[in-house]
Amino acid sequence: MSRKRILVINTGGTIGMIRTEHGYAPQREAFHELLKQIPELSAPVMPEWDMVDMDPLLDSSNITVFEWNAIGERIASQYHLYDGFVVLHGTDTMAYTASALSFMLRKNNKPVILTGSQIPLCEVRNDARDNLITALLIAAGSFVHEVCLYFGGKLLRGNRAIKYSADDLIAFESPNYPVLADAGIEIRYHHAALLPPCEEGFSLQRLVNIPIGVIKVFPGIQFELFDSIMTEKLKGIVIETFGAGNIPRHADSLLPIIRKACENGTIIIVCSQCPHGTVSLGAYETSSALKEAGAISGYDITTEAAVAKLYYLFSRGLTVQEIRSKMEKSLRGEVTVF
Ligand code: ASP
Repeated sequence: MSRKRILVINTGGTIGMIRTEHGYAPQREAFHELLKQIPELSAPVMPEWDMVDMDPLLDSSNITVFEWNAIGERIASQYHLYDGFVVLHGTDTMAYTASALSFMLRKNNKPVILTGSQIPLCEVRNDARDNLITALLIAAGSFVHEVCLYFGGKLLRGNRAIKYSADDLIAFESPNYPVLADAGIEIRYHHAALLPPCEEGFSLQRLVNIPIGVIKVFPGIQFELFDSIMTEKLKGIVIETFGAGNIPRHADSLLPIIRKACENGTIIIVCSQCPHGTVSLGAYETSSALKEAGAISGYDITTEAAVAKLYYLFSRGLTVQEIRSKMEKSLRGEVTVF
């Protein structure tokens, strides 16, 4: 059987950084040199792989909708030439990019695996080597038909992942959805958790940089300070509430603001500050008013996926009603709707 072909898209991030006098920074040539020194990457059990570098290589804190489109276009233009894709990416915003790609790559049937590392490949002790090798093997397997994030021995659904540790080598979690595979002595897939293949007809939805905001509720928040930005500037807002979707009672000023914003066509999604569990609007008096004012429940969606989904749905040019209805449904396994 011929070897699978994988395209590696290098966007930057710690994995390919080297030490400079100003701290770690991406460096294309040095990274390629280091990769040549890993014989396992060309072992017979490995797929054949090519690598393209984004220009410039970025620390992922600098990733924007522009780069999401560039990654999506790379995948779309080579979709029929490769069996799978590995995207090398900084960890800081990897969960956002994985979420965005999961929506942008419509009817995607191929493994698209984002990975990176906490310690660069140039260091003696690093997690880069294993993350890259295992991501390539997963991308060359035949079980994955979706956008995933592989890190520290775990394969996660991309739009369910969050970065939860700034220094652990197991830096990502999927608090509301099972792990898709564990890479121990063997790579053990949890088949029931994986998305099944979808019908043919891959296409790319490019994203438009629409104004989106995230507001985190805290005790004493003065919502009136957000009035004009919420009602006049933003098209989509994710509100990170307490627990199951609660806001402080003193925040009565929020409800007329939400009402006005919704009348102006702004979509307001209620998420939870708790990584684990779901929003349940109406379970408490402090949350039912949000629903009455026009906000939509995000259920157990991550803030990362909610932001990406808002970009995606607005970019499709849908009506406000259509966007509201799709926000409350699972499009790519990103949310559990009860
Ligand atoms: N700041 C880096 C980045 O996100 C961190 C990392 O890659 O781990 O690009």
